[in-house]
Amino acid sequence: MKLPITGGCLCGAVRYEASEAPVSVVWCHCASCRRHTGAPAAVYADFRRAAVRFAGVEPTRFASSPGALRGFCGACGSTLSFEGESQPDLINVHLGSLDNPGDFPPSEAVHTEGRLAWFCDAPDGCD
Ligand SMILES: [Zn+2]
Ligand SMILES: [Zn+2]
Repeated sequence: MKLPITGGCLCGAVRYEASEAPVSVVWCHCASCRRHTGAPAAVYADFRRAAVRFAGVEPTRFASSPGALRGFCGACGSTLSFEGESQPDLINVHLGSLDNPGDFPPSEAVHTEGRLAWFCDAPDGCD
């Protein structure tokens, strides 16, 4: 893993860099993440907020519930981040927005009660 860790949106308007490794990399199976990403589940790299710097434009932030801000690119719509009141020192960055997401395998899953029934069995090209 090379520092800083970099990422951004599809159109390149929002770029960010993290000066240190994520504290965790986590699948989230909650319905809000599913809706926000349009994907069956989300994977986040959780960084200390102080270690992440946005270059250029900041993500547009949408309050999906009280105390929960979901960030996306206002120009291209790419899903980018989650910031929660309950974890003020962290910013969760959507793994697919990293330049090298393959460097960061998830090590846990949360809200598994919301996991889609077919999730673990569906063909995904790994076989
Ligand atoms: Zn963009
Ligand atoms: Zn979630």
